Amino acid sequence: MLARAPQQTIINFHGIGEPARTLEPGEAPFWLGAEQFGQVLDQIAAHPDRARFAITFDDSNISDLAIAVPELAKRGMTACFFVLTGRIGSPGSLDRSHIREMAAAGMGIGSHGIDHRDLSRLGGRDLRAELAASRAILEDVVQAKVETFSIPFGRYNAGVLAAIRRAGYGAAYTSDGGTARDSDFLRPRRSLRCDMDDAEFSAILSGQSSAAKRLRRLIGMSLKRLA
Ligand SMILES: [Zn+2]
Repeated sequence: MLARAPQQTIINFHGIGEPARTLEPGEAPFWLGAEQFGQVLDQIAAHPDRARFAITFDDSNISDLAIAVPELAKRGMTACFFVLTGRIGSPGSLDRSHIREMAAAGMGIGSHGIDHRDLSRLGGRDLRAELAASRAILEDVVQAKVETFSIPFGRYNAGVLAAIRRAGYGAAYTSDGGTARDSDFLRPRRSLRCDMDDAEFSAILSGQSSAAKRLRRLIGMSLKRLA
């Protein structure tokens, strides 16, 4: 029997440092300070079971290349970066040469759609465009297959997942928390926020947080049943 891929905690980042574009409503807490970011990477690098962690970035901010890639490289780490193709080359966002440079540095490149839309609210044609057109653009940029998709705002339903599969992606990254295997289509992640305290960061990195969350969910479910 083949050994199964190990369960991984996938840590998701957004912007690092000072934003170089106007933020969307509610986006600010998802930007981490550069120092805070370095400390989280240090904790992952020092973890006794470092292979248990994967790292991703959403939104293709310029800080991906300016801050994240050098900090990852310094620690011998790689990550997957999910690009909004509608922002390629706009102020504060990665351009085509940045994305190629990151791919050449061994970083994974995936799609985050075109215009950062809530896919669960889109009709079939718009949904297909977000998935297929963004993939085609990225494959043209990196001259390689793009097989991973990160779902904007973590909002999805069965129709969205089916459309992601039909568009040819092999994996869909959500923001549901928990762990995933490399072989899973659905890959829940933990998004870090700057307003989390050290205890919360440590809990996520130790894996306690997902267990605690599962427990709270179970308790919530049985309370609902009793109601
Ligand atoms: Zn996003």
